[in-house]
Amino acid sequence: MIFLKRLGAAFIGFVAIVTFLSIVFTAAYYATTWLFAQLYYTPSPLIQQLLTSIFGLLIVLITVGTIGFINHGRMEVWQDGLFGSIVDALGRIAQGDYSVRLDNPKMNGSGGKPVGMLVQSVNTLAQELNAMETMRQEFISNVSHEIQSPLTSIRGFAHALHDDNLDAADRAHYLNIIETESTRLSNLTENLLALASLDSESYTLDPKPYRLDVQLRDIVLACEPQWQAKQIEMNLASEPVTLAGDQDLLNQVWLNLIHNSIKFTPARGKICMALHTRDNAIEFCITDTGSGIAPADQARIFERFYKADASRERARGGSGLGLAIAKKIVEMHHGTIAVQSALGAGSTFTVSLPNQPN
Ligand code: ADP
Repeated sequence: MIFLKRLGAAFIGFVAIVTFLSIVFTAAYYATTWLFAQLYYTPSPLIQQLLTSIFGLLIVLITVGTIGFINHGRMEVWQDGLFGSIVDALGRIAQGDYSVRLDNPKMNGSGGKPVGMLVQSVNTLAQELNAMETMRQEFISNVSHEIQSPLTSIRGFAHALHDDNLDAADRAHYLNIIETESTRLSNLTENLLALASLDSESYTLDPKPYRLDVQLRDIVLACEPQWQAKQIEMNLASEPVTLAGDQDLLNQVWLNLIHNSIKFTPARGKICMALHTRDNAIEFCITDTGSGIAPADQARIFERFYKADASRERARGGSGLGLAIAKKIVEMHHGTIAVQSALGAGSTFTVSLPNQPN
């Protein structure tokens, strides 16, 4: 198809050139004939032929030269304007102004595609940097907020402890709050460091085959004081499953999911976990009879710092990073993590990891 189009264009070009030359040389013939008639001179056919050819060639050269000169001038003006604005845009981007957008020129022929692509790339660069800058600012404001609130609380209660008239119960209560808030700060920095390390390009997974069912059982046992304290019924149904993965990192995923379930399930609730191999995947799901998550929040709980109920979360001590870390680790293992939930009825989190045979 493209070949036929090119052949057609070449044919039209050829016909145009032949027509142009015919017109020019016919004009040159009549011009020289008229000139000789004015001079009352009859040259030999050879001289007449030579002069006609030279005159025709001169007309061709002058026409082509004039067209070339006009086009060159136009291109220079156009290129100066366009490249000037590209250089200007790059300068503004370098200064941190990411609102720059260049008009994508609707090229009329010459060199349109590469220049259009260059303009598009400059616009994309500005857009991406703008998105990154917004994310950076949001991140800083979230971190500052998460650090500021426990610090305010610690300062307030430490100040209150100066009061000599404070009774022993209040004193113990204030000290308890200070301890909880310090633990919160410490967890926050630990989570931030974990995310920064996982985000860094240099992080390398250490995948080795290990018994996933044993790992889950150990975590459930380690969390026993927490679920026992709330008299939560814990069930883990699992077959022996060997997974090739980074054992330490995945430990963090299960720990975050199980901690959340215990945290959001009221006393005497129930948590059921199941682990099985399905087709080419290993699937772990954890279902609780907890508070549940509203549909609008379900879409956002895996974002960094997102808390479905920020005011109640403060009391629970969460920082909204647990699920973001879990998601990051699962995705590093080429797996998926999803939630199904109904407000007031409970939630089910499902992690699916590829089962690579070893
Ligand atoms: P946090 O450290 O605050 O718990 P996460 O990233 O682990 O942060 O969770 C984000 C939000 O998702 C929580 O603030 C909570 O609103 C919601 N959430 C997570 N797990 C559950 C669950 N099992 N039941 C109800 N809500 C949950």
